[in-house]
Amino acid sequence: MTDPVLAHAHAHETDLVEGLKTLVSFPSVGADPAMAEGMENARRFVEARLEAMGFDNRQRLTPADGSGQAAIYGERLDAPGKPTILVYAHYDVQPPDPLGKWDSPPFEATERDSRLYGRGISDDKGPMMIALETLAAFIAVEGKLPANVKLLIEGEEETGSPSLPGILETHRDLLAADAVLSADGARWRPDLVALNVGSRGNAGFEIRVETAAQDLHSGRYGGIVANPLHVLSDLIASLHDAKGHIAAPGFYDGVTEPTNAEREEIASIPYDEDSAFAAIDAKPHGEAGYSTLERLWLRPTVDVNGMWGGYTGAGSKTVIPNEAFAKLTMRLVPGQDPERAKQAVIAHLRAELPDYARLDVYGERGQGGAYAVPPDHPLLAAAVAALEETTGQTPLKVRIGASLPLTEIVSRILGLDTVMFSFALSDENFHAPNEFFRRSSITEGLAAWVSILRQIGTLSPADFAAFRRS
Ligand SMILES: [Zn+2]
Repeated sequence: MTDPVLAHAHAHETDLVEGLKTLVSFPSVGADPAMAEGMENARRFVEARLEAMGFDNRQRLTPADGSGQAAIYGERLDAPGKPTILVYAHYDVQPPDPLGKWDSPPFEATERDSRLYGRGISDDKGPMMIALETLAAFIAVEGKLPANVKLLIEGEEETGSPSLPGILETHRDLLAADAVLSADGARWRPDLVALNVGSRGNAGFEIRVETAAQDLHSGRYGGIVANPLHVLSDLIASLHDAKGHIAAPGFYDGVTEPTNAEREEIASIPYDEDSAFAAIDAKPHGEAGYSTLERLWLRPTVDVNGMWGGYTGAGSKTVIPNEAFAKLTMRLVPGQDPERAKQAVIAHLRAELPDYARLDVYGERGQGGAYAVPPDHPLLAAAVAALEETTGQTPLKVRIGASLPLTEIVSRILGLDTVMFSFALSDENFHAPNEFFRRSSITEGLAAWVSILRQIGTLSPADFAAFRRS
């Protein structure tokens, strides 16, 4: 027998799609001050929906100084004795550029081939509407939710969540919960049922190597003064040993070797390495002793994203440049402290620097730790059960090589774990032209959200006690 709440949600899918189209029509590009009206209209849309659904204590949240794009908050705490889940989503979107590459206007949601096209429709407006309309269906049919729900709908996800730490710190009591369920964070592959259980952290900085006060003539100075491009190349080359291991002492502090169980679980994931690499016309390469997925998910990296200096114009110029530059970033894994890992790399570069060169380090940025959901976390178990029930398959537990600042910020400030339960798929062109959301993901997502809320409703706050760190 179909769950009456799910039947209601499915019966109202057309309304959900209409609402989604309206939401997409508001250009909520947080990065562009000219789109402030789009941001405000998106906020008002969400607020009006929360009011109509019967959410209480609705308010806009900012850090204590009132700065940034407000997050939207609302709650339904009508399930005494049940867990409290903080449901996360975001209403801001990436800029639509380059506009000429869109086949339909980015802020006019358009349906083609069972897909809905529009900026932000997959990241994160479509997945957010699935979460909201599931909650609405419970309230409409049963008059209440199976668990207590607090909603946090952020407006700065696409600009790196600069205000989120301040919002969480300022409203710590209001946001107190047992765990976080995110409607953001894409599913891995259309052909596999999977849950993201971890992400890598990141950090970065820039360097400048200088060997003289000004550019020099290579005929007058060549061979008697160091070339900073050569020095920079040596420094970059010194970051890895011959096995692809990062050579900076202390960089791996806190990193644990994957267990046999972890390696077996990763090895069991269907992954066609040949076709994945053929698609990018590249060959597998990386740290010796690890498989491609282990390298991607469990091992940290240091990468040069750009190097420049000297003459790069047409023809030749016989110059010995006096300075050379590089941008470096790293991807970090659980156990690594981003600041310590970054300082280990900087200390290594200084130690390798020859005495005839000077090194400036500047532009330190993008710092966040890695995150992994505890394998025995009750919300993860609820997500697994919900996907098993609605897809008939046991989801694979996968990680992503990229960074999800939300999970790490929430863990650090609220002491809570996050389960990503988005119904976006990773091939849906988010952050690119022709972003789309599969129409079928709405049907699948509603079923899974109804199921996970029912699963959570069978739990008690005590089930989460061992996992809360606040
Ligand atoms: Zn997103």
